[in-house]
Amino acid sequence: MDEARETLMYESEGAWREVDAYFVDTLVPEDPALIGARESGQRTTMPQAEVAPNQGKLLAMLCQIAGATRVLEFGTLAGYSTVWLARAVGVEGRVTSLELEEHNAAIARVNLDRAGVADRVDVLVGPAAETAQRLIEDGTEPYDFVFIDADKPSNPAYLKASLALTRPGSVIVIDNVVRNGGVTDPGSPDDRVQGVRAVLAEIARDARLDATALQTVGSKGWDGFTVVRRTG
Ligand code: SAM
Repeated sequence: MDEARETLMYESEGAWREVDAYFVDTLVPEDPALIGARESGQRTTMPQAEVAPNQGKLLAMLCQIAGATRVLEFGTLAGYSTVWLARAVGVEGRVTSLELEEHNAAIARVNLDRAGVADRVDVLVGPAAETAQRLIEDGTEPYDFVFIDADKPSNPAYLKASLALTRPGSVIVIDNVVRNGGVTDPGSPDDRVQGVRAVLAEIARDARLDATALQTVGSKGWDGFTVVRRTG
């Protein structure tokens, strides 16, 4: 990032945080289970990598708007987004969440239990591309909603797997597609940026997919997400 951008971000971040805190206080009450899940992120391998509360609520609302009862998540961490998704699908719903690290999965399972949703969530441990391939080979019933939020260089592989595990009408959300503006740099040496650019190009090429992307500022800095709808 160039120096001018960095200064602007540094000066703006406090205000972004304040506005997020106001929105969350006003509209997104968290119960002790959500607070516990969010705070336990500190004990995972990627502290503070969970979505913000207002982003978690957005995911839950997108699920509900889509009428989703079967959700697939790439990247569990401490299960903060997973709790939002599991509550959104209701008692009859299912969430499958894929996580590389057993350490994180163990923390997530405790959080899911405390949130009262453990019986509707499967946290599957291992490299998500391999786990997803197993789900495909097992002929898993299609998912209605997918949240891709694991290692960013693998985004194209996760999209491909998601297409094998969804149906027309399913919704796919991909997080962290802005990366402090880095996404606009075709020559970026950052393989996470290249993972985002590659998956966006793939989405644009696929006639079955309709999509938009939004940049956001807030307690998680300057980032954004893509929402994809399968039309065919
Ligand atoms: N979705 C979570 C939330 O909002 O609460 C945050 C997920 S965090 C950004 C990314 C997670 O992906 C980490 O827990 C990390 O261990 C996991 N991860 C990284 N590489 C992975 C891989 N190859 N397969 C599965 N999970 C992976």
